[in-house]
Amino acid sequence: MTTTAVPGLERRLKAERVGDLLFNRFNRGRYATDASHYQKMPLGVVVPRTLAEAERAIAIAREEGVSVLPRGGGTSQAGQTVNDALVIDCSKHLNKLTSVDVSNRRCIVEPGIVLDDLNRQLRRHGLWFPVDVSTASRATIGGMVGNNSCGGRSLRYGNTRENVVAIDALLADGSKARFGPTANDLHDLPPNSPLRPLARDLLALGKREADEVITHFSHVQRRVGGYNLDALLPGRNDLNLAHILVGSEGTLGFSTKIELKLWPLMPRRAVGACHFGSFYKAMDSAQHIVRLKPIAVELVDHTMIELAREIPMFRPTVDAFVRGAPDAVLLVEFAEDDWEENLRRLHALHDLIGDLGMAWDKPGAGYGGVVDILDAKLQGSIAEVRTSGLNIMMSMKEEGKPISFVEDCAVPLEHLAEYTRRLTEVFEKNGTRGTWYAHASVGCLHVRPVLNLRQDKDVKAMRAIAEEAFSFVREYKGSHSGEHGDGIVRSEFHEKMFGKELVRAFEEVKDRFDPQGLFNPGKIVRAPKFDDRSNFRYGPGYHGEAFESQLDWSAYPGTGGGLQGAIEMCNNNGACRALVGGVMCPSYRVTRDEQHVTRGRANSLRLAISGQLGPDALTSEEMSETMALCVSCKACRRECPTGVDMARMKIEVQAARAKKFGLSLRDRLIGYLPRYAPYAARFSWLMNLRDVIPGAAKLSEAIAGLSSERTLPKWRRDIFREPTNSSWPGTAVQRTASLRSPVSRPSTPSFTAGVKKDVDARDKRGHDGGETLGQNEVVLFADTFNRYFERENLDAARSVLIAAGYRVSFATPVDGKKRPLCCGRTFLSVGKVDEARREAERTLAALAPFVERGVPVIGLEPSCILSFRDEIPAIVTSDIAQKLAANSFMFEEFLAREAKAGRFTPPLKAAASRALLHGHCHQKSFAVMSDVETVLKLVPDLEVETIDSSCCGMAGSFGYQAETVDVSLAMAELSLLPAVRTAPDEALIVADGTSCRHQIHDGTGRTALHVARVLEMCLIGG
Ligand SMILES: Cc1cc2nc3c(=O)[nH]c(=O)nc-3n(C[C@H](O)[C@H](O)[C@H](O)COP(=O)(O)OP(=O)(O)OC[C@H]3O[C@@H](n4cnc5c(N)ncnc54)[C@H](O)[C@@H]3O)c2cc1C
Ligand code: SF4
Ligand code: SF4
Repeated sequence: MTTTAVPGLERRLKAERVGDLLFNRFNRGRYATDASHYQKMPLGVVVPRTLAEAERAIAIAREEGVSVLPRGGGTSQAGQTVNDALVIDCSKHLNKLTSVDVSNRRCIVEPGIVLDDLNRQLRRHGLWFPVDVSTASRATIGGMVGNNSCGGRSLRYGNTRENVVAIDALLADGSKARFGPTANDLHDLPPNSPLRPLARDLLALGKREADEVITHFSHVQRRVGGYNLDALLPGRNDLNLAHILVGSEGTLGFSTKIELKLWPLMPRRAVGACHFGSFYKAMDSAQHIVRLKPIAVELVDHTMIELAREIPMFRPTVDAFVRGAPDAVLLVEFAEDDWEENLRRLHALHDLIGDLGMAWDKPGAGYGGVVDILDAKLQGSIAEVRTSGLNIMMSMKEEGKPISFVEDCAVPLEHLAEYTRRLTEVFEKNGTRGTWYAHASVGCLHVRPVLNLRQDKDVKAMRAIAEEAFSFVREYKGSHSGEHGDGIVRSEFHEKMFGKELVRAFEEVKDRFDPQGLFNPGKIVRAPKFDDRSNFRYGPGYHGEAFESQLDWSAYPGTGGGLQGAIEMCNNNGACRALVGGVMCPSYRVTRDEQHVTRGRANSLRLAISGQLGPDALTSEEMSETMALCVSCKACRRECPTGVDMARMKIEVQAARAKKFGLSLRDRLIGYLPRYAPYAARFSWLMNLRDVIPGAAKLSEAIAGLSSERTLPKWRRDIFREPTNSSWPGTAVQRTASLRSPVSRPSTPSFTAGVKKDVDARDKRGHDGGETLGQNEVVLFADTFNRYFERENLDAARSVLIAAGYRVSFATPVDGKKRPLCCGRTFLSVGKVDEARREAERTLAALAPFVERGVPVIGLEPSCILSFRDEIPAIVTSDIAQKLAANSFMFEEFLAREAKAGRFTPPLKAAASRALLHGHCHQKSFAVMSDVETVLKLVPDLEVETIDSSCCGMAGSFGYQAETVDVSLAMAELSLLPAVRTAPDEALIVADGTSCRHQIHDGTGRTALHVARVLEMCLIGG
């Protein structure tokens, strides 16, 4: 089959309407990688809407002599999902649960259904598909079947193969067949079934190779390498022809329907965290522990523990289950129906670990014992740390990265300790190291040595390590491919592991199914060398194009001041494709297009910055389209396991485009808002006519691209103005200051008599405790949005702070101009980084005296105040920018800390019984949500419910743009608007983001309040 573009292919696919066709260089680039280190540009991509369309597309490919690569979530780690073929993406539309047979515990699914999604739908029947891969949030059943994927609990439930009942497949010759349980003499196959001759040949091959299979197939449970010839052995009373397709990596046919075996939901579990002072001892103990019949034994080594401890999100969990400083911990899980039995086994585990010589009071290797974990929530958090293991390791910023190739060898348990010892020596010999985590119960060890595959010497080291590691595995009669499949990484080694004859037999299987090489050629059989650099993501000639970046990327290597290295942090693991849980990535959740997920954007950027998408790709229209639906929510910054921060990268793209093409009228209206706002406020009646005069909105859409479906925020004359020193008790205005002379003039203390006593007491506690937050002066930063459109929020915040005894100061410009301060956010959103820098420097100069004195700077609008922590230090490299980053707080964040320290205790009364809270994306990204909840819970009798929402969809100007208004509303409809609509009338709707409040109002007619307004409402005495 051809591996070069076929001129008529796209035209034919288009003419026959086989779904979305993605053929431009950007789209193909987004499908050129999976989670391995390989890259191959596909010939094109089809996203079929129906199975019939998929079948038609494959038929056209066959007729045109083009190979086909079926694809699910594209999370394979061995390179099985890259090829110079026509990609058929099953994940967007072919994802239905077709039927469930509850009594027989069976279901039938389409191949693109995601495991988590399937299990969510099965839950109500008390059932689940138990092959719980770490990538459950985006791995598809088609992909899991393709790879014969394995979950952490495979000891009890088996691998995917053991849980597949039947597969409907489209074969290379265009015929269709149902592969499933069959009699050994095939009498139950329909006489005209295309399967009959195929099955006969396969069984004959199984018979012929029986001795070879028995001799050379590893007997460890985790053997997923090669084709499953063991399924064809004569004399089996459980012949299931589907099992030859399982693990075939899309090389034998295209699965259209898959019938799965289901299990009752897991009962309550008891977990013992077995601590070991020596890694070797932990590995050696696994063989004894499995005799207690746990359902899983998972290893976490000390490097992983320490890395997880450094991640704020994981630290509390690690602290909760790790005692002391063990070299390794084995998490042993019991899940019998009888709870008492679980406790008995846990008890036996304590005895066993004691018998193995471990004790809490022993030093060194003998240190150890068992920590019981019976709380389901903690068990869940520990599982999250463990399944994030790989990604925790991948978050290293340097060019060398942990590389997956001896990643999932499985050896019999009695050899586990020795195998790890020898492999550690091999790593050392080759000048590298590895971090271990493992499914110890089945002898499957995940370890990735750190290598830089751009360097020849490291590529050579990779081969040396692989050769030795696989020799050990063969010696132990283990499996070199124990979980993630063969792909390009392991196929080359089949001859070494299975012998020549079986490799010929594998080729025969492939040729019998697919003589022309239609399906995913070059995997499992006739694979390229695994270290052929021309197939690498960072292949020969890979380089970074010169690029002048605008933000500080110096923590990373590569061109663009490190931007390249930051982009390359994306390892394609696909966590951003999750559809529920967390908030990443809202645009993907609406469109389900690879183009609109963080991974797709990162891949496009990587290919562009390395010159693989032609000249000027970074400023091209395609790049602009790639970024168009990114709402800069910063969810990826927090939730992407390797910290890919697309919101920042988008600023670079917009800045480059702004520099090259200038700004559109709309971008100018948005970007320069802080500059013209003072005039607009003065002529508010004129500015507001757009939403009053019939047709004006339509005109604004035609001229400026602002959607006529939206009303714009209302301009007003009575904007917020900083009070003069004497006009408001407890308020001071800082007027003279400069960035260079941060000597401050003390503000005038002017407390109300009623709160003075409390303030004194607070001050004292603050000094005693030595905390900077103990001071009673704060600066309230009046942002552009609240100042001009919702001054009530600033008034409310000031009232609350004063009532609680704080002296509220305001910073004013030091450049002599009257125009209020601004963080620069609107300029950043349109790529005018130079103007944003100017605004930021002006604000920094005004805030400097306060910041130097350690006075907390407090703000109300998340996207403004959190830019003090995020973007401003990335565009202004001054000391004061760093200090402001450390000393600026969201209003609620400040109050929550003060309340915790006992310094914020205003008298509050009940106002409503229920509050429904929606978090702004940046509040979520910077982990401020729990502070909003804390503050709301200070209100007596208020029940606070946080909506499980992603981005509201408004996202600054995104919701106002004519071309994105629909996506904006669709994002809001995912969960936010339905939740608000069902809230009782008397419930308070709370949202701190200006845009969020606007979206809630537009979508439901309900008015949402800033938390400051809620507190103000509840102040006793007003
Ligand atoms: C961080 C991380 C953790 C992982 N953890 C695990 C783990 O715990 N256990 C585990 O087993 N794996 C794990 N993997 C590997 C991978 O996630 C799994 O193999 C997963 O099941 C692949 O699913 P997918 O939808 O992404 O498949 P894809 O990568 O899209 O496809 C996998 C194979 O299936 C084929 N295929 C897809 N659809 C079809 C179809 N309709 N017909 C025929 N063939 C098809 C493809 O051609 C390909 O060869 C991990 C990967 C990562 C990145
Ligand atoms: S962007 Fe992050 S979450 Fe998404 S694939 Fe890349 S590394 Fe994974
Ligand atoms: S910033 Fe938000 S929308 Fe943009 S890629 Fe990240 S998660 Fe997706």
